[in-house]
Amino acid sequence: MEKRDANQNERSRKLAEALLKGWKMLPDTCPICDSPLFETPSGEVLCVVCGTKVILVESDEEAKLEEHRLALDKMLGDLVRHLERELYEAGESLDEGSLRRINMLLDAIRKALIIRRNLARQERTRS
Ligand SMILES: [Zn+2]
Repeated sequence: MEKRDANQNERSRKLAEALLKGWKMLPDTCPICDSPLFETPSGEVLCVVCGTKVILVESDEEAKLEEHRLALDKMLGDLVRHLERELYEAGESLDEGSLRRINMLLDAIRKALIIRRNLARQERTRS
């Protein structure tokens, strides 16, 4: 209990210090410790409590790109898992049906990879 109070005080002190320095408190919070993030005069965004530097996704459009990328990564993961299971279940006997499913999965993975590459390119040209 005492220890938590001490941590709490330490946290408040660090936040107060940042405010006194004129750093801008942002509406976003630290992904590590959930404290409010600050923007320094040099434009760096960081958590004054745990010292984590954060790169904020800036515009809505960029956030959307990032969202797409994450969704795509998840889908790719699912596809690969499907493929692994298909291969595992087929074992030595790759019949017509499993070959067709495997081909479909490989095709879907290939397409997802192309979309992902295009997204990456879009992000690059933006920055
Ligand atoms: Zn933090």
